[in-house]
Amino acid sequence: MDTDIISNAKGIEVSRRNFLKKSAFLATTAMVAQQQLFANSEEEKILKLRAVHQSKDYYAEFYEKDSYKISGLFTINKAFMDTRAREMTRIDIELINLMYELNLHIGIDKKFNIVSGYRSPQTNAWLRRQLGGKNVAKNSLHMDGKAVDIYVAGVPLRKLRDIAVSLKKGGVGYYPKKGFIHIDVGDVRTWRIG
Ligand SMILES: [Zn+2]
Repeated sequence: MDTDIISNAKGIEVSRRNFLKKSAFLATTAMVAQQQLFANSEEEKILKLRAVHQSKDYYAEFYEKDSYKISGLFTINKAFMDTRAREMTRIDIELINLMYELNLHIGIDKKFNIVSGYRSPQTNAWLRRQLGGKNVAKNSLHMDGKAVDIYVAGVPLRKLRDIAVSLKKGGVGYYPKKGFIHIDVGDVRTWRIG
């Protein structure tokens, strides 16, 4: 920044403005460079999420430079919130990484629509009464933050299911009539309803 023009009130105002402009530019440039760097490495992991029942989008940077980011993990917890009970839980890291892996296969720009994330025991019991025991497990992994029901706009559900099954990281349920798949990090198994 030029210091020689700071001689009067007007001069200070001008150079400060230039300085701010320059800082904003440098910050943007650094950010772009950083994004390009991260795009070429596995240093940063993000998830783009749409919480269907909250009508809200979430952008979660949950991993950076060999460590998990609390703020990003918290963003994921919020996206998984049980809106009926207005309760949150800590979503299992394995499930988060499974979603990230799925994301790498379908395209990292894609967004997961979350139909059902965390379920409090009360909400799970309520759903069982509404939908029946065949559709909602008594000890659902949704209650442990280890399961999620999702769909992705522009990706056929069958394809999403096939990729999830191929990863062999847990259970995959296919619900073509309801328009989502269930994935969890429990035992490896598959099922179809509808
Ligand atoms: Zn489910």
